[in-house]
Amino acid sequence: MHYRDTCDRCLTDDSPAIAPVKVTPNGPGSILATYRCPTCGFIWTCGWSAEEDADEARHPAA
Ligand SMILES: [Zn+2]
Repeated sequence: MHYRDTCDRCLTDDSPAIAPVKVTPNGPGSILATYRCPTCGFIWTCGWSAEEDADEARHPAA
């Protein structure tokens, strides 16, 4: 899925991207994704354009 991000605290070249634990609407055309790092427990949020979601709908990854 889209909206994957990596932890700033334990980021390395081979850090896997983390899927958000929660995705909430954040105004017209945007969403706010909440992440929790499985390694260090750090929690952060990142805003994304919801247009990526529409693109995913047109071109399903799986
Ligand atoms: Zn971390």
